[in-house]
Amino acid sequence: MNRTSKHIVIVGGGYVGMYTGLRLQRTLRRELRNGSVRITLIDPQSYMTYQPFLPEAAAGSISPRHVVAPLRRVLPKVRILNGKVAKVNHEQRQLTFEPSVGEPREIGYDVVVMAAGSISRTLPIPGLADAAIGFKSVGEAIALRNRVLALLDRAESTDDEEVRRRALTFVVVGGGFAGIEALAELQDMTDDAISYYPSIKKSDLRWVLIEATDRILPEVGPEMGTWTAEQLRERGIELKMSTRLNSVVGGLVETSDGDSFESATVVWTAGVKAAPIVNSGDFPLDERGRIKTTTKLTVSGVEGAFAAGDVAGVPDLTHPGEYCAPNAQHAVRQAKVLGDNVTAYLRGRPLKDYKHKYVGSVAGLGLHKGVANVYGVKLRGWPAWFMHRTYHLSRVPTTNRKVRVMADWTLSLFFRRETVSLGEIEHPRDQFRAAAAG
Ligand SMILES: Cc1cc2nc3c(=O)[nH]c(=O)nc-3n(C[C@H](O)[C@H](O)[C@H](O)COP(=O)(O)OP(=O)(O)OC[C@H]3O[C@@H](n4cnc5c(N)ncnc54)[C@H](O)[C@@H]3O)c2cc1C
Repeated sequence: MNRTSKHIVIVGGGYVGMYTGLRLQRTLRRELRNGSVRITLIDPQSYMTYQPFLPEAAAGSISPRHVVAPLRRVLPKVRILNGKVAKVNHEQRQLTFEPSVGEPREIGYDVVVMAAGSISRTLPIPGLADAAIGFKSVGEAIALRNRVLALLDRAESTDDEEVRRRALTFVVVGGGFAGIEALAELQDMTDDAISYYPSIKKSDLRWVLIEATDRILPEVGPEMGTWTAEQLRERGIELKMSTRLNSVVGGLVETSDGDSFESATVVWTAGVKAAPIVNSGDFPLDERGRIKTTTKLTVSGVEGAFAAGDVAGVPDLTHPGEYCAPNAQHAVRQAKVLGDNVTAYLRGRPLKDYKHKYVGSVAGLGLHKGVANVYGVKLRGWPAWFMHRTYHLSRVPTTNRKVRVMADWTLSLFFRRETVSLGEIEHPRDQFRAAAAG
């Protein structure tokens, strides 16, 4: 190893981490070849998750393996370490790396890129930690899919009316795009699946959204948000607007409108907060607990540190005084500017500002259903769904993933979707353990 080489460490291999790595592989090609620069990316997972496809993975329209991009294949010039960064001591230009197995070790660097994203923002609601599941990772999406389908199995197989009602009541808390897409896709899947369950009628399924404000899907604007709410209601989904979840102890859902009912599935998608690593470093934080960042995506007031994406409070130059929203649209574009700025920093050149005006959003609401508001063009139903699919197909990283996702969608034109629960894979050793116990 060349001891005089500059070492760039990227913390996190999601949108920002992977796209920054891709950009640096290209712009620093010469330096990487002659060994004057090394790049290391650290993430607990060996893949980047394309989160906008999680609702379709949960609904069985896309195979789980196709919503992730393998980091080692995408970034052959970058060293990938699996584990997490437990601490950053930027003053010493050193971070603590915790591999999944073995002792933590210190890693020195010249430049650090903080790209650790966000985690679910929870509230101290009684029972929430035990009863609910988030919707941010491929593991959560697939566990949720297996759970919903297993609950249909349970309802079909019981004579107990209470067990059945609890099994067939599904709750989603939070009406942003993660919550609405998860709710709409999964409800669409259960509508499809019940044709294989003779005792379950559509009216037996209860899907409930709990939203603290009076609007849903703010990403597509008020008009399209209202339209989406009407569509969901027409599909029989209950929208509890301006309502809070008060308690969910043992699955007994109690809401601020005085309602109370049992549910075996509570999905929590009520916002995100910066990854906890921000609290184990010496970087300045903004009032929302994210790494305080300049318009050039450097960490405010320090040399040699950059940050972007959900973990960072990046000033929005198109709306002075505001921050960029935590979404993929910003994350991908920030990564490009960030990568170029790291290269410029190493070469002693001036850095660029990050400026992007939010162009709106597209959301899938189930097979052939969607809503879109992009560049002021508002689409509903099938055209929006088609736009949602073509947009995300163009965005999902690597040609390999694009072809695989396309193949999944093409197959679903000819065959009905798979609606089998593989919940067993969450406890693969149970049978063997029982056999060994005699
Ligand atoms: C269900 C869902 C649907 C969405 N749909 C859309 C959409 O349609 N359009 C849109 O614009 N946005 C969408 N988003 C939001 C978008 O996915 C995020 O804004 C984007 O992923 C942020 O990118 P990031 O790189 O900051 O974080 P991430 O992509 O989350 O990556 C962060 C990475 O950091 C790693 N990490 C965390 N802590 C550590 C640590 N201590 N050490 C090492 N690594 C660490 C994590 O494992 C992760 O891989 C959606 C989000 C969800 C959950």
